[in-house]
Amino acid sequence: MDISNRNNINVNEAKISVIGLGKSGEAAALLGAHLGANIFMSDSGSTPDILERKQRLTSNGITVETGGHSDKIYNADLWVLSPGIPEDATMVFAAKEKGISVVSEIEFASWFTTDPILALTGSNGKTTSVHLLSKMCETEDISPALSGNVGTAFSEMILKDLKNKPVSRVHVLEISSFQMENIVHFKPFISIFLNITPDHLDRYPGMDDYIQAKMNMIQNQRDEDHIVYNDDDPILSKKFEDVSPQTHGFSILGKGETQFTMNATKIYDDAHATLIQLDQLALPGRHNLANALAAATAAHILDVPNSRIAQVMSTFRGVEHRLEKVSEIDGVTYYNDSKATNVDAVKVALDSFDATIHLILGGKDKGGEFSQLLPHAQNKVKEIVAYGQAGEKISTALRDAVKLEQVSSLKDAVEICHLNADSGDIILLSPGCASFDQFSNFEERGDAFKSIVKELNPS
Ligand code: ADP
Repeated sequence: MDISNRNNINVNEAKISVIGLGKSGEAAALLGAHLGANIFMSDSGSTPDILERKQRLTSNGITVETGGHSDKIYNADLWVLSPGIPEDATMVFAAKEKGISVVSEIEFASWFTTDPILALTGSNGKTTSVHLLSKMCETEDISPALSGNVGTAFSEMILKDLKNKPVSRVHVLEISSFQMENIVHFKPFISIFLNITPDHLDRYPGMDDYIQAKMNMIQNQRDEDHIVYNDDDPILSKKFEDVSPQTHGFSILGKGETQFTMNATKIYDDAHATLIQLDQLALPGRHNLANALAAATAAHILDVPNSRIAQVMSTFRGVEHRLEKVSEIDGVTYYNDSKATNVDAVKVALDSFDATIHLILGGKDKGGEFSQLLPHAQNKVKEIVAYGQAGEKISTALRDAVKLEQVSSLKDAVEICHLNADSGDIILLSPGCASFDQFSNFEERGDAFKSIVKELNPS
């Protein structure tokens, strides 16, 4: 199938193999089927989630194989490849050798819209920032739709739009680096780069490959398009010097020329008009200031009024499981930061508070260096309670420097902190580990934390 000219792509009656039955694979299959393609779906796994999706697709008349890939996958004009499958997998080479075009789900979905796309990527803070941006765009002139790596797959959103034909649509996409593999025509009006720290180095041979995957986002952008980037990030600040799209840095350190600038008390715009006082911001922590400035800069490019940007900054309290304030008992405040699954996220959580912290760490170890937390914990963390599979490793790394207790369950950890905390203290679940030793995902772990806290008795 010739996909070289985006304007001539027609998938009606095309044979499309969708490889990987995740959320985005299911959505791509339904979008393709709606457009008249003959879809063949294939997944090597057969987990309960996959089987449930299989049932849904089958009832929509789509042929699905699970538990392995048969040669039928090669009887295709086009492959839509799940972000879970690396682009250098043997089967991908085999498909390309047979002349099959291979694209990602984001690329595929993007063919069927001419609405502007705002695409945001980064190592940490993506979900928070796309929510901020999407809310800022909720104005009379713009009808934002949030999708991608968050909640709804892009293909699902596009399918809904094909049916409902909304006006003034702007797509706000959260993009992971895996989703930028196999890009051909994908062209955001604004691409936004939050930060780049070493992550997913298990998938990429080195840092350069990881960065390059993210940079695919700008490969089709032209003079009329925009790049918003974090000028405080040592990698990003040098990345966009000779590019054709218009570039806009943002900084919480007052670097460079920026649309919005921060001083010790407020954020102001390039005409020196105050946008907002820092003490009016609803989200805690300097990292969230960076997220807010990224969103504000992109919103400004779309002519969102400053009053709307400031309103969102002062009211948006964040996404569940990210430094989420749970409750206050006897003057002690409980925060759920279950999404902090790496040591970098724990560092920013600790940096977000001035009060004394009782920190709960633990779960399934992801190879993090827990000793890196020490500079962020000094004079602030009263105790650490480590639980779960990583408990021993955390204890070995930190027990000589901080008061530390090791327990087996999250419930025991919360109860110990509850006993030891004084009024004014913070109890923070920011585990720095994956959840899979005791929970099926970070959401379940965060929910468990919240119900344990609810059952605590005030003294
Ligand atoms: P992502 O979608 O990139 O995983 P989230 O918004 O879900 O990002 O936040 C994930 C974790 O990273 C949370 O624990 C949060 O406190 C932390 N975090 C959020 N923004 C930033 C940032 N700008 N820099 C570093 N860490 C951040």
